[in-house]
Amino acid sequence: MAKLGELTEDEKSLFSHLNKGDFEEASRLLRSGSVRIDCLDEHGMTPLMCAAYKGKAEMCELLIAQGADVNSNHHEQQYTALMFGCLSGSVDATRVLLEAGARVNAENSLGRTAAQLGAFIGQSECVSLINNFLSVDDLGYYTKPQGLEKEPKLSVALVPALHKFAVSQNLCPVKIAMYLQDNFELVKNYKSLVKVMELLTESKIKSKEMQEVLAMKMHYLGFMLKKCAHWNEKLEGKGGIDGFIKYLTKGRSSDGFFINMEDIIRQAIKEFDYPECTIFKQLVQTIAPVEKGRDPTALAVITQSINGLRCGDFSDCCVVCIEKRNVKKCSACKMVGYCSVRCQKLHWQSHKKFCKQLAKDYEEQLAAQLAEEKLEDGISLKTQQEKPSLMNGEKKPSANRKSDEAVNSHKLKTENDQNTNTGTNGDIEGTNLSES
Ligand SMILES: [Zn+2]
Ligand SMILES: [Zn+2]
Repeated sequence: MAKLGELTEDEKSLFSHLNKGDFEEASRLLRSGSVRIDCLDEHGMTPLMCAAYKGKAEMCELLIAQGADVNSNHHEQQYTALMFGCLSGSVDATRVLLEAGARVNAENSLGRTAAQLGAFIGQSECVSLINNFLSVDDLGYYTKPQGLEKEPKLSVALVPALHKFAVSQNLCPVKIAMYLQDNFELVKNYKSLVKVMELLTESKIKSKEMQEVLAMKMHYLGFMLKKCAHWNEKLEGKGGIDGFIKYLTKGRSSDGFFINMEDIIRQAIKEFDYPECTIFKQLVQTIAPVEKGRDPTALAVITQSINGLRCGDFSDCCVVCIEKRNVKKCSACKMVGYCSVRCQKLHWQSHKKFCKQLAKDYEEQLAAQLAEEKLEDGISLKTQQEKPSLMNGEKKPSANRKSDEAVNSHKLKTENDQNTNTGTNGDIEGTNLSES
């Protein structure tokens, strides 16, 4: 263990860069290997604690990737990185720490947990994130025989994959099914796992903090795990988990809407065993009046209530699995995006009927947008020329600026689209798939 305050010059400089929020210099030092990842300053702060306190999620990620101890407890007042993250108010930094296994029940020298400290200074988003995060400790409980049990309910070997499954933010059934294919041991052991998830749901409902959101999430994931396992065992549908994924991504013939996915999510919510809970009532009230195929979809509603309001917008996400990263547009219509060739292939069966029409729509929208922008630019230019000394003229220039931004972002978009076209030759190509 590093001793308090015994720092090399490079380590001192690392702390100073972290304190200043200088990401580039700090990462250069980290990558150089000349600093101990868990070195301690004179108060027992580690670099990770420092980055957390600054609310720098990216920096926390880098430190953790380099092996920083997320639960270091050498701070003079026993503060942890999670406590600092929560105090900073950065939801992203807090999430990075949680996902890396930060213990939520750790207490400082005054007996306060991270959530209690955050609540004290009004960081409600971080507090709610912590309170609704499934910790490894939560699962650990089930790996020990309880009461008269001879065998524990959960095998220790399954904990890492199950924890990753439980803390994932993407609630799209397609993404869930793909994760389960890659972590097939969860499917093989689904009976005991679903039981554990039901018990977790119950314990979160009955806990004194009443963690409804986490309870709903556990129920939802348990439901999807059971579905996948049933398809896998041919108790439902045909073609195993692949068949389930195809079923989920089959578009309705009239408009291509993923009607099966909508139905399954609605069913999952309906089967929640605690109808008196606020989250259940809110979900039902929001979803029930919506005609299937209109916004919001059940997926958007449940994502918002579990992950927070800002998470329900999927406009730049993969249309199949709502993954945000590496999304490339269909080169033919430029109206739908995919994260992978697999997702595009899954969608092609129903998308091919609409791709041509969407391509036309795209051209029309583009033309209309351009015409409108030209017109607006003309008008605002004229107005500016006529009234150069407009005193309370905030509106005009700002509207002008806005349309400039629109033109710029439009240009960027078109450029990106072109890049996508040339960059992914044969990857994300609607036309290629249509031949296959
Ligand atoms: Zn995808
Ligand atoms: Zn298309």
